[in-house]
Amino acid sequence: MADITDSTARQAVSEGLAGAQSGVGNPLAVAPAQVIRGSLAEAGRAIARLGHRPLVVAGRHSQSLIQAPLAATAAQFGLDLAFANYGTDCSEASLADLRAVLAQHQADLVIGVGGGKALDTAKLLAFQTALPVVTVPTSAATCAAWTALSNIYSEQGAFQYDVALATCPNLLILDYDLVQTAPQRTLVAGIGDALAKWYEASVSSGSSEQTLIIAAVQQARVLRDLLLQKSMAALEAPGGAVWREVVDASVLLAGVIGGLGGAQCRTVAAHAVHNGLTHLMQSHGTLHGEKVAYGILVQLRLEETVQGNRLAATARQPLLKFYGEIGLPQSLADLGLMDVTLAELQQAVEIACRPGSDIHHLPFEITPTQLMAAMVSTTGPIELKSWEEVRPAAD
Ligand SMILES: [Zn+2]
Repeated sequence: MADITDSTARQAVSEGLAGAQSGVGNPLAVAPAQVIRGSLAEAGRAIARLGHRPLVVAGRHSQSLIQAPLAATAAQFGLDLAFANYGTDCSEASLADLRAVLAQHQADLVIGVGGGKALDTAKLLAFQTALPVVTVPTSAATCAAWTALSNIYSEQGAFQYDVALATCPNLLILDYDLVQTAPQRTLVAGIGDALAKWYEASVSSGSSEQTLIIAAVQQARVLRDLLLQKSMAALEAPGGAVWREVVDASVLLAGVIGGLGGAQCRTVAAHAVHNGLTHLMQSHGTLHGEKVAYGILVQLRLEETVQGNRLAATARQPLLKFYGEIGLPQSLADLGLMDVTLAELQQAVEIACRPGSDIHHLPFEITPTQLMAAMVSTTGPIELKSWEEVRPAAD
């Protein structure tokens, strides 16, 4: 199992890097074919254009939310619906089970409803079976409803590898009323995940000469600024106009950046730290975007302490203040990892640093010891090498 996983991950990474170097011959998967912002109940016609025997992949809670509106739509447009639970994670085992259910129903369409894991499962199931897919996010916690990417986890919830899909979903239905039923914390996590676009894309692709990647990096800067300016107001008035703008930023604009930038533009240390942390059982109580947000601070700390980057050092302080205001974790303690042992932390660090990890997209070499030091000092004071050693700023 571990061998298969590692080789698949390596293959995915090497394919991504090969495409990144040339930028040519890589199919573009920029956006869903159609995005409907409105009620799920009114999206029946668009769903019916894609298929009449949908398999709805959802968690139990999401299914209870959408069963009534989907049943009404199904009656109106002659859809023969079947529901399937995706389990707890987008794992190889749950995908195998779902392929069996899909075949039994003779489904001609997959509809994913839920958070990132449900949507990643639905997208990958559709890709594996060459069927169209509709995504219906029930929270703004990630941009998974938009992207042509699925993350695979073990049944224990540990990140294993990601799979690049041929296209973005055929239809994305962003039903704000549905998103508003999710706990506020999910939008906060979505803000954290979306913020990472800038901190990671500017490091991995900030000096790219490729038109679409330049555009993606600039959009990531716009996204960061929007989130820094509007998140507080959005969280104070859920369902309001500013709240919708921040939901659009986290679910749609973050997706646009992933689509324009492609694999090369996606992730660096913030997500690598997240991936390492998912191997600790104690981290499973926190959301993807919360771990990624903490990972941004770790990445800035690495740029500060290993590279001597003055801008990274000064960027961390206002970000800590912003995290404090909206409730994103600033430290391992905030992630509930206060009692984690040194050996466990070492395990997460080694996974984050293994060959092929996105952490190696940093423009400098790092060691596990340096990563460990950065992970335990995200809230520490600015620490810079002497001015002579400080490299030119690269914001
Ligand atoms: Zn993410």
